[in-house]
Amino acid sequence: LIEFRDVHKTFGAAPVLNGISLVVPEGQTVVVCGPSGSGKSTLIRLINRLETLSAGEILVGGQPTSRLSGEALRVLRQEIGFVFQHFNLYGHLTAEENITLALRKVLRWRDADARERARALLRRVGLEDKADAYPEALSGGQKQRVAIARALSMRPRLLLFDEPTSALDPEMVGEVLAVMRELAAEGITMMVVTHEMGFAREVADRILFLDQGEILEDASPRDFFHATRHPRARRFLSQLL
Ligand code: ATP
Ligand code: MG
Repeated sequence: LIEFRDVHKTFGAAPVLNGISLVVPEGQTVVVCGPSGSGKSTLIRLINRLETLSAGEILVGGQPTSRLSGEALRVLRQEIGFVFQHFNLYGHLTAEENITLALRKVLRWRDADARERARALLRRVGLEDKADAYPEALSGGQKQRVAIARALSMRPRLLLFDEPTSALDPEMVGEVLAVMRELAAEGITMMVVTHEMGFAREVADRILFLDQGEILEDASPRDFFHATRHPRARRFLSQLL
């Protein structure tokens, strides 16, 4: 579903990704970890063109993405749900309105249909009673679950998560990971930047370890945790555990 072909990214003179090649088949859950500044956010932000690449190509569903613009770029972004560390909900809209916004504005759905989809998604993330709540009245974990429901509203083929639990109080991490675990079990393709190694061990099909813009490990959880090959990955793990 996603293919990186020798992808390079520089910001000014600074190289951030140095020749990433990677294939993610439909249905996989891939966890991306690595030290701060290693390029994890850049890697996933390139996929829906929140960043533009400097060299190489990224294909989604077999289609090169680097030259898309206008309507084609809009369609690409429709196919990809993105969940941010800081939720990025619209504060002046209720939970339900946050979820229906794209359906109403982009797909021009009727209100009643959009509302029905939103209610179903809120049920799925365990928040059916919070449809009319504004973000400020929700806990961090609830906000992030609304953000996940919003990311699902356009029925994406692919979900990208950038440290979805890093801004949460510890007691709220579990409820968000539980929703993500269910999505993975349903077979939606996901790339998840996270340091939650328990989640990685139990849910990921595959773990990437990124350091200084290179993939140093690309392994099953079993191999990643028990046969960590690269010394830098070993050091990273020992600091986390
Ligand atoms: P963290 O764990 O702290 O989120 P990360 O692995 O997600 O780190 P990135 O955010 O991808 O790392 O950043 C990789 C490098 O690129 C860093 O050195 C960062 O300073 C740099 N960088 C990221 N975005 C920009 C930008 N818009 N302009 C200039 N440099 C940037
Ligand atoms: Mg980051």
